[in-house]
Amino acid sequence: MLRYDNYFIPKTLKEYFELTTKVKDCRIVAGCTDILPWAREGRGGEVFLKNVVDVSRIKELNVFNFGTKKILLGAATNYQKLFLDKKIRKSLKVLPQVSVWFADDQIRELATLGGNIVNASPAGDGMPALLTLNTNVTIAKFKNKKIIKEKMPLEKFVRGRNKVALKNNDILVNFEVENTDGYGACFEKVGHRRSLVISTVCVSSLVKLNNNKFQDIRVAVGGVCEVPTRLSKTEKFLKGKSIDENNIYAASMLDLDVIKSRSRREYRKEVLQNFIIRSILKSLGKNNVEETIQRFDNKVKSQMESTYV
Ligand SMILES: Cc1cc2nc3c(=O)[nH]c(=O)nc-3n(C[C@H](O)[C@H](O)[C@H](O)COP(=O)(O)OP(=O)(O)OC[C@H]3O[C@@H](n4cnc5c(N)ncnc54)[C@H](O)[C@@H]3O)c2cc1C
Repeated sequence: MLRYDNYFIPKTLKEYFELTTKVKDCRIVAGCTDILPWAREGRGGEVFLKNVVDVSRIKELNVFNFGTKKILLGAATNYQKLFLDKKIRKSLKVLPQVSVWFADDQIRELATLGGNIVNASPAGDGMPALLTLNTNVTIAKFKNKKIIKEKMPLEKFVRGRNKVALKNNDILVNFEVENTDGYGACFEKVGHRRSLVISTVCVSSLVKLNNNKFQDIRVAVGGVCEVPTRLSKTEKFLKGKSIDENNIYAASMLDLDVIKSRSRREYRKEVLQNFIIRSILKSLGKNNVEETIQRFDNKVKSQMESTYV
């Protein structure tokens, strides 16, 4: 059960910092879709927060600026907007795909991208996709009576399981992502059930082609390591290579050691490898994904037989 004494709704960063320098013991909330279940399920015990500060209506956290190279998304942008917005569908194709897998309509209306990243769950779905968009985050802090903004790569902001680079009343303001119009994209996840699923493994990928070669390829995974991560060996191997099933298969084996989960490692490795292959093929717009994976499986089987039988 979550109880609180005061609920504040600042409208600007200035108001937020005026409030949080005056009033002690403030706790930020945005959509409350992480905080409420945590309190309600008793994981946090009997939760009492003296002062709750709802940041979802702060102007600077709701920016939505589209440039040809960079796009700014406020930290309070919710997943339903990422799902439905036409500009996002064109220039940031991977984000609506994350939203398809994310909870349901009601939760998506509330759940913010900022809350998802600050929560920093290894199974959070937002981070792998943002990693493939080469994201920088901007945080704001209050020093010597001034608002100071600091920009850093997402990889530097998320420091570990449930750990981010925020102190005291610092606040996450926005995400600067790359406009990836012209890229193929894919996000998929697997978990223990079909709907409202928590990722056991999720993969995000983006590809750009030139003359039937990988001009750019970005792949990131979540769910299997403390912090979602880019698959640098896979990317390096494929960049500049031709769109060839054998190249994709060879690449899919290179980063399986990112799996840090101690349980069911072999299962996770197999799922991850298949997911990497699927994700790249789907980003390329291939329809025969299952067939190709079956072909790869048979190939491995016959290689094993010729080696060991
Ligand atoms: C039924 C259900 C299904 C879900 N499905 C998924 C899913 O499929 N994938 C997934 O990844 N997650 C899922 N979640 C988890 C949750 O919805 C997301 O993590 C969501 O994005 C959190 O955002 P929020 O705005 O609700 O965060 P809140 O609960 O409001 O806050 C989360 C944390 O972030 C902090 N915070 C929020 N905004 C800021 C900010 N701007 N600056 C600094 N700190 C901030 C808060 O203090 C708090 O510690 C699900 C939750 C539920 C209840």
